[in-house]
Amino acid sequence: MDATTFPTQAELRKQHVIDPEICIRCNTCEETCPVDAVTHDDNNYVVDASKCNFCLDCIQPCPTGAIDNWRIIIQAAYSLDDQFSWTELPEQQDVSVVPTDGSIEALDQEVDALLAEAHAGVGGKSMAPNSAAKPSVNLFNRAKPAIATVKGNYRLTAADAESDVRHIILDFGDTPFPVLEGQSIGIIPPGLDDDGNPHHVRLYSIASARDGEKPNTNNLALTIKRGPGVCSNYVCDLKKGDTVEVTGPFGATFLMPNDPSANIIMICTGTGSAPFRGFTERRRRTVPDAPGRMMLFFGARRPEELPYFGPLQKVPDRLLVKYFAYSRVPGETKTYVQNRMREKATEVAELLRSDNTYIYVCGLKTMEIGVDESFAAICAEAGLDWPTMRAEMRTNGRYHVETY
Ligand SMILES: Cc1cc2nc3c(=O)[nH]c(=O)nc-3n(C[C@H](O)[C@H](O)[C@H](O)COP(=O)(O)OP(=O)(O)OC[C@H]3O[C@@H](n4cnc5c(N)ncnc54)[C@H](O)[C@@H]3O)c2cc1C
Ligand code: SF4
Ligand code: SF4
Repeated sequence: MDATTFPTQAELRKQHVIDPEICIRCNTCEETCPVDAVTHDDNNYVVDASKCNFCLDCIQPCPTGAIDNWRIIIQAAYSLDDQFSWTELPEQQDVSVVPTDGSIEALDQEVDALLAEAHAGVGGKSMAPNSAAKPSVNLFNRAKPAIATVKGNYRLTAADAESDVRHIILDFGDTPFPVLEGQSIGIIPPGLDDDGNPHHVRLYSIASARDGEKPNTNNLALTIKRGPGVCSNYVCDLKKGDTVEVTGPFGATFLMPNDPSANIIMICTGTGSAPFRGFTERRRRTVPDAPGRMMLFFGARRPEELPYFGPLQKVPDRLLVKYFAYSRVPGETKTYVQNRMREKATEVAELLRSDNTYIYVCGLKTMEIGVDESFAAICAEAGLDWPTMRAEMRTNGRYHVETY
């Protein structure tokens, strides 16, 4: 392919692959596959691209998540022999050839900088959980954005609530746009800024599971709060049928562990709930009776301002334990997420004692300090050393912060 051209859509294909580093060679997928697309040699379990019809029957039974990997390829699929020889999954090929006029590179750097700033609260280099699926990143950019169609735009907060938070569903039609829970996409607002330059890309967390807002659909959901700025208003005003330029996906570390025995503590405010909706839905669809526990601390001004308040009530506690914190309910004491964490110190400490517990903090930057102080206090009461524990969790991909 000429380095100055982009592959056409027809040249791009999605291929189902198995991660040889995680696969325990249990044969479950081979037994499950209705079209005999899975086979193996002494080395690896692999998927025959010419047979796999993406029915996804093999995904749920796989005990490790190794089966749940996908690559966008240009024309030729990885052969069986290629896959038998793998010791690890190949990197996603760069399917977006970037022009060298400087502007696109600057834009990519801008996204990297936004993510680095959002993850700064981790206090060091972010690491993905060991058992997380390998993400695809940077498949689409400003020069070659994916075009998504709006399938729905619903207000999540009550009509009289101060904040207008919306659930937006974007459909990618025939364009492969593989995502994982915890990743973000970029949205390019149309038009020019006051200086006559194209608007910057804004990042939004994916609020649905990797296989779509509804299972096996090529779409995703976003949770967007209308602000005074350019992009959030643009997206919140979109109508069903409108098209949107999308870049990404972005983010290679704020990902959920595939291991069903992993415990996940999630702490968020407002639209910070978006990735946790994706995490919860992923586990509900694949391992609803997982041995690992999920615990959510969710802060908002009032219940009416809490995105997904109604649907969240219906999620059973055995899947997700929910603790809400409200800071502006008339006549009630102001409670923030860090206060609720302290109230549930015994439950939090019990999870912290496990070295298979993962922490995720997402939402407003202002929440970071209070949350950290609460972990420190909970640990002190439980005889645990939070600074040591946090450093250890950080280096093995168990401590994640994404704030903006
Ligand atoms: C990794 C990551 C994930 C994110 N995920 C989400 C998400 O899931 N949901 C979500 O809603 N957001 C999310 N964000 C934030 C999002 O990217 C945008 O920053 C946000 O929507 C604001 O963009 P904007 O274009 O509306 O505002 P901008 O135009 O970028 O303006 C930024 C700020 O400038 C000020 N400002 C701008 N215009 C005016 C004006 N006329 N009057 C007064 N003040 C003004 C406001 O403070 C405004 O919020 C995420 C950010 C990151 C980095
Ligand atoms: S079911 Fe999963 S772990 Fe078992 S062989 Fe298949 S890919 Fe590997
Ligand atoms: S997605 Fe369906 S066809 Fe493809 S390997 Fe899995 S079970 Fe077989």
